[in-house]
Amino acid sequence: MQLSTLLTRFNEPETLKMAKLGRELRAQGIDIVDLSLGEPDFDTPQHIKDAAKQAIDENWSHYTPVAGYLDLREAICQKFKRDNNLFYTPENIVVSTGAKQSLANAILSVVDQSDEVIIPTPFWVTYAALVQLAQGEVKLIKTTVESGYKITPEQLEASITPKTKLFIYSSPCNPSGAVYSKKELAALVEVFKKHPQVLVISDEIYEYINYNGRTESIAQFEEMKDRTIVINGLSKGFAMTGWRLGYLAAPKEIAKACDKIQGQFTSGTNAITQRAAIVALTSPLDATMAMVAEFARRKERVMQLLRGIKGLEFTEPDGAFYAFPCVDYYFGKSDGEDVIENSSDLAMYLLNKGHVSTVTGSAFGDDRCLRLSFANSTANIEKGFGRLNEALSKLR
Ligand code: PMP
Repeated sequence: MQLSTLLTRFNEPETLKMAKLGRELRAQGIDIVDLSLGEPDFDTPQHIKDAAKQAIDENWSHYTPVAGYLDLREAICQKFKRDNNLFYTPENIVVSTGAKQSLANAILSVVDQSDEVIIPTPFWVTYAALVQLAQGEVKLIKTTVESGYKITPEQLEASITPKTKLFIYSSPCNPSGAVYSKKELAALVEVFKKHPQVLVISDEIYEYINYNGRTESIAQFEEMKDRTIVINGLSKGFAMTGWRLGYLAAPKEIAKACDKIQGQFTSGTNAITQRAAIVALTSPLDATMAMVAEFARRKERVMQLLRGIKGLEFTEPDGAFYAFPCVDYYFGKSDGEDVIENSSDLAMYLLNKGHVSTVTGSAFGDDRCLRLSFANSTANIEKGFGRLNEALSKLR
């Protein structure tokens, strides 16, 4: 079978691969503690579920406009005003089947063959894959645990060339949990001002899961609004990963291009989800905040547990629900059977011998680290860290 060369340009996401391997071991009856999860372990809030039930009864069952219902796009504009002090009109908004599709729409709309796209490491797996799909060139900026996993204006300046088309980042960051402050963004904006050809994708899907207050968007800077594509969605903040709804806000020309691409791929997303999304985005955020408070408690526990494990270096995440410790202390060590050369070896060792699933840092462009999710109950987190510690202590 001769499959397309397009398939050779990108890989299956490691995050999904790890979840699949965990499921396979579980199917064999092995008890696996899952610290690889990329989604809230909470139920969707009741008022949103009720809105969906009502939408079914009201027969919202037809094809929807490609960019989403007008009243949903109006609700999204209201949300941007309420939460981000950003002023958009519905023509700036394209609703899609998840932030992942919004990213695909945006990247395929602006990246041409050989365009350079700057992505700070560690980054969410899909950014690089989508750029490769669009035949762009990925240019990574390395950040480290020492720099709090944030880039400096100097690093940004040094990485921009005349071929740079786009800069993609998430704040709060998956996997590092780093959150850029307004002051840090302002310093990056000074660099972008000197290079007007560079567009920015700001992935704000973890906006609400921020332990230090409000998430600042780079689009709030006057010079950036017309060159920034803001990505967001319901998956994380409202525990709605399976409902599949994301959205973007972009200059009208880009929004129109995204509409055109989506019109051929999937059309408008699920009608029921869209009706429920209006309620999610216009209601008080009490359920979201309760969830974030629980994540914050778990984060404290995870920090304590990490401090108890030998050889790890880490920062405290300011947002999202992951810890991203450096584990290279264990490279070159062995339990007498398996030799650990890199983060993927360690993740596989922990899964097969420790029965705890994590995600290798190499999936996020940083081979020194592992991603440990705390989207799991405190009891499971404690059990998982116990196993982690035990398995790591066997490596010499
Ligand atoms: N961006 C980031 C940083 C994510 O972590 C995820 C989900 N893991 C997404 C986008 C995609 O989210 P969605 O479910 O809306 O497609």
